[in-house]
Amino acid sequence: MTLHIVKKGDAITMMRISKRCQAVTGSLTLEIDAKAKEMKARGLDVVGFGAGEPDFDTPEHIRNAAKEALDRGMTRYTPASGMLELKKAVCEKLRRDNGLVYQPQQIVVSNGAKHSLFNSFQALLDEGDEVIVPGPYWVSYPELVIMAGGVPVVVQAEEENCFKLTPERIEAAVTDRTRAIVLNSPNNPNGFVYTRQELQAIGDIAIRHDLTIVSDEIYEYLVYDGAEHVSIASLSPELQERTIVINGMSKAYAMTGWRIGYTASPLHVAKAMTNFQSHSTSNPNSIAQWAALAALSGPDDQLKNMVAEFDCRRRRMVELINAIPGLSCKPPKGAFYVMMNISGLIGKKLNGVPVTGSMSFTELLLESKQVAVVPGVGFGADQYVRLSYATNMENIEKGLGRIREFALSLED
Ligand code: PMP
Ligand code: GLU
Repeated sequence: MTLHIVKKGDAITMMRISKRCQAVTGSLTLEIDAKAKEMKARGLDVVGFGAGEPDFDTPEHIRNAAKEALDRGMTRYTPASGMLELKKAVCEKLRRDNGLVYQPQQIVVSNGAKHSLFNSFQALLDEGDEVIVPGPYWVSYPELVIMAGGVPVVVQAEEENCFKLTPERIEAAVTDRTRAIVLNSPNNPNGFVYTRQELQAIGDIAIRHDLTIVSDEIYEYLVYDGAEHVSIASLSPELQERTIVINGMSKAYAMTGWRIGYTASPLHVAKAMTNFQSHSTSNPNSIAQWAALAALSGPDDQLKNMVAEFDCRRRRMVELINAIPGLSCKPPKGAFYVMMNISGLIGKKLNGVPVTGSMSFTELLLESKQVAVVPGVGFGADQYVRLSYATNMENIEKGLGRIREFALSLED
């Protein structure tokens, strides 16, 4: 028997990590969130703007549905792609809210929308297939594409255009390897919402170049200033045929920890994803599925209150940011994030340490003022940091007060 004495630097030779896995980096958003939570647990007075999760409790009727499911013994396997009752509720929701007609067999329920996205790219992509990812993008899209052997092609949009991509920009990025385009409206991290006309123009490109649209609609209910969420799949039967709609419980029902997301897609895609899921995770948690059913078919008063509260916080956060010298932001129309432009502070120093980009800005701010934000570099936008207003008004006042002090304390 050989004894393995672990020495520094041995790990790599002892158990080799696949190239596929080496190509993927961890989620920066989850890392920042974990860091802020860990600092709070140590008793530090951290103001966390990192979290991409509602600070509200899961509504009572949803929690009760889970308790009842437990008491009724709903603790066994369900079909791998989710239970029929829940799929029917998803179909009803898609009909009611999005004007989309799907059959239950076209729905695949997974462990969060992130898992739904994972399954989608696994089902769609072959080695080297390109996926257009509008930037600044949510951290996980490029990695999810890479995990499926695909190549993310980031197409950047500018703040002047409210971070929206023009059809010309998208079309210029299409090659003969382009297989799909990711759409995320309302958007994380930019907070924009595409209008019906803008979606139509993107849909036309998808049809012209035979692209699949992966439409992540997880923030659909979180819209402000009269913005309207439209599902691109609802614009025509032709578009529905080439779209995978992604959605989930996390954001609308404050259910981030429950891990339920779903896809609605053409039947053959749903079947392919079901096969994949049946060998990887099997069904998502059965109790959480009953809770999701209650969420989709129950009252939505908490959701309405939550949106009204997010709206107040959004306004206040935008006002406070734009009053700080060197910092600015555009008012977002959806989700619960603000992209704060930090370019006016790049090159300045705190005690001799320069702000070189979003990462050093984030680190200096966290160390000196205990305020957690997400560096834009994780979204492919190093001139920005993302702030989430899924935190209470007191924290917004306190945190922005500290960011103001931080900005004013920087020297040339
Ligand atoms: N899409 C976007 C744009 C998100 O911000 C998130 C947040 N985590 C997800 C998908 C995944 O959500 P979940 O896996 O919690 O359902
Ligand atoms: N989507 C959230 C965020 O962007 C949660 C963390 C994650 O899943 O990335 O912060």
